Amino acid sequence: MTIIHNLGFPRIGSDRELKRAQEAYWAGRGDQAALRETGRELRARHWAIQARAGLATVPVGDFAWYDHILEWTTTLGAVPARFGQPEGEPVGLDTLFRMARGRAPSGTPAAACEMTKWFDTNYHYIVPELHPDQTYRIAREDLFEQVAEALALGHRPKPVIPGPLTWLWLGKGDAYPHGAADEAKLALLPGLLAVYEAVLRRLAGQGVEWVQIDEPILGLELPEAWRAALPAVYGRLAGQGVRVLLATYFQGLDLNLDLLPGLPVHGLHVDLVRAPGQLEGVLAALRADQVLSLGLVDGRNIWRTDLDAALRIATQAQARLGERLWLAPSCSLLHVPIDLEREGGLDAELKSWLSFAVQKLDELRLLGALADGRPTSDELAAAARQRAALQARRDSPRIHRPAVARRLDEAASLSRERAHFDQRIARQQARLGLPSYPTTTIGSFPQTPEIRALRRDWRGGGISDAAYENAIRAEIERVIRFQEDIGLDVLVHGEPERNDMVEYFGELLDGFAFTEYGWVQSYGSRCVKPPLIYGDVARLAPMTVAWSAYAQSLTERPVKGMLTGPVTILQWSFVRDDQPRALTCRQIALALRDEVQDLEQAGITVIQIDEPAFREGLPLRRADWPAYLDWAVDCFRLSTSGVREDTQIHTHMCYSEFNDIIEAIARMDADVITIETSRSNMELLGAFEDFAYPNDIGPGVYDIHSPNVPREDWMVDLIRRAAQRLPAERLWVNPDCGLKTRGWPETRAALASMVQAARTLRAAA
Ligand code: GLN
Ligand code: ZN
Repeated sequence: MTIIHNLGFPRIGSDRELKRAQEAYWAGRGDQAALRETGRELRARHWAIQARAGLATVPVGDFAWYDHILEWTTTLGAVPARFGQPEGEPVGLDTLFRMARGRAPSGTPAAACEMTKWFDTNYHYIVPELHPDQTYRIAREDLFEQVAEALALGHRPKPVIPGPLTWLWLGKGDAYPHGAADEAKLALLPGLLAVYEAVLRRLAGQGVEWVQIDEPILGLELPEAWRAALPAVYGRLAGQGVRVLLATYFQGLDLNLDLLPGLPVHGLHVDLVRAPGQLEGVLAALRADQVLSLGLVDGRNIWRTDLDAALRIATQAQARLGERLWLAPSCSLLHVPIDLEREGGLDAELKSWLSFAVQKLDELRLLGALADGRPTSDELAAAARQRAALQARRDSPRIHRPAVARRLDEAASLSRERAHFDQRIARQQARLGLPSYPTTTIGSFPQTPEIRALRRDWRGGGISDAAYENAIRAEIERVIRFQEDIGLDVLVHGEPERNDMVEYFGELLDGFAFTEYGWVQSYGSRCVKPPLIYGDVARLAPMTVAWSAYAQSLTERPVKGMLTGPVTILQWSFVRDDQPRALTCRQIALALRDEVQDLEQAGITVIQIDEPAFREGLPLRRADWPAYLDWAVDCFRLSTSGVREDTQIHTHMCYSEFNDIIEAIARMDADVITIETSRSNMELLGAFEDFAYPNDIGPGVYDIHSPNVPREDWMVDLIRRAAQRLPAERLWVNPDCGLKTRGWPETRAALASMVQAARTLRAAA
């Protein structure tokens, strides 16, 4: 019988129970026992769901109080010195929370560890801090306790832990200045492996048969020293009395396939959703005693599996592997919502195309039954229904809109070129009349409880359209007056009508759907509910023009029109799997192009298209970067190139390091880019040593994530440092990002200080 198993289950709970418990605990509204009890209940519930689906084992170790990498980092005892962890004592939950968020109900606050994106997902992990003199030990018992818990509930636990190479790759430290690939990190392996061995031996002692060790970096382009380390590492781990399933995902193993025959692991998991082409090579390299787990159900997206296609692959592998074939989702189900059954608001047809974590496990069971040729009549009926739903999806007029396809064909020949920047900026300056070091903000102003309540009431039908519109207009007017009073140069309307920068546009565009409970963990207790892009994207009517035009009518100063860019809308949604991402992005870009032109027609002279997710769309392998950057840049230019020379196009980026893609950013050819830099203390400036950024740029002068009011002299200093690398007449003065999460008092003070900084710079010029 073909074994089916799972790489990890979402931990938050279908009602986000974990979020509530975490936040209550952090706020002092519950004790640690209550938090631990919630964790226990969630694990028990999730194991039961998985056991019911017929899984041979249940994953243990996929649960985390904040993040599974942080779980492992603390289990290894790798706690940075500033958290005051006493030598030899267990690492407590509050220390873990202080590492994640800087503070916890007990313990002295300290600077939190860095957080960053998990490969190309929207999940964030806490970056391990590496020190050359770190000693590793088993410093937490949670994993072993959870194994015991699963056993006591009658399950067969399969612990899941991050592999030592991936953990090191993701780690950072002052002693390792050359980034992820830094060879010096490999010197930490011996100490680390001793603890891995001890962990595996203890798990063996608990009766565990299989341990899943995740090494997603095996899909990447690895330096030779890292590749060379692999056989010895797994030689040690595979000899500790448990069987090791080495799990890879998000990319094919092809680049490192040559290492496979020499690897002493007992089994291998590969992601055939992302990299179907690797199967032949893997089968050929596999030894006769090794298990192969095929990831055939998409763990990264919400579409139903094409069972026939998956079955063809499974049977082909089965012919070669027999009992050594396992079936699984492509990666952990952490990245999809939990249960489609809860979605009362989606129509039946759309629902029949979708599959969340619970449904994916059902699909897996179905696949296993079909592969073994022993489906029950119910299973056969379910497979037939699924086949019919997929066929309907392929043919549905809700998905394929000939008008969109036609316009896209026409758009292929549209010019993406504007006049030369020098000419544009001269005409823009003549029209806008801005001072040197112009000041602006990124778009949103504080979203007070009143504004949130207003939107909620309106959506719930509690207030009329007219009352809502009046209230939003009043807020826009307040924000415009405030900006005039404080002396900002390019104003914004403040975005009070938007709860989320992607959802707002998705709701107004054709081809999008929204769930009620489709939460996915982003980091810690933060969850997001990504929109689903199911069909061709089309703009039904102007989306922002009325609000922007109203704002502009209130003032003589330019008010920026505010749009979310095509790549960001794509990146923060679940996207179609039946056409390339680039094509979906181009459809969005075309819809935005129409909006840009309507804004211009309505008298808007400055239009900003936010692309905060531009960098995170980068493929995992560098070799794939140029192709992505080409279409991403092309989409931005498609959206923005239809305007007059004297209409000023802005873009905004944040959340990441831009140094290695600055040339592609320049190719977007926005007239002005406002970009996050203050948190990294203007690290970005390093990029300009080799590359002269040609257009206007506003390096964020203060961090909006902190309620602290930035000092004027500090901001002046940042801009002066920027002026050493970039022409002063190209510089803008602005915060790092939008202000929607801030309160009014600090926003007033911060922007007043920022405007003062610009005045000081002008006076000195
Ligand atoms: N215009 C958006 C805002 O100000 C940009 C948000 C973002 O970059 N994430 O809120
Ligand atoms: Zn931002």
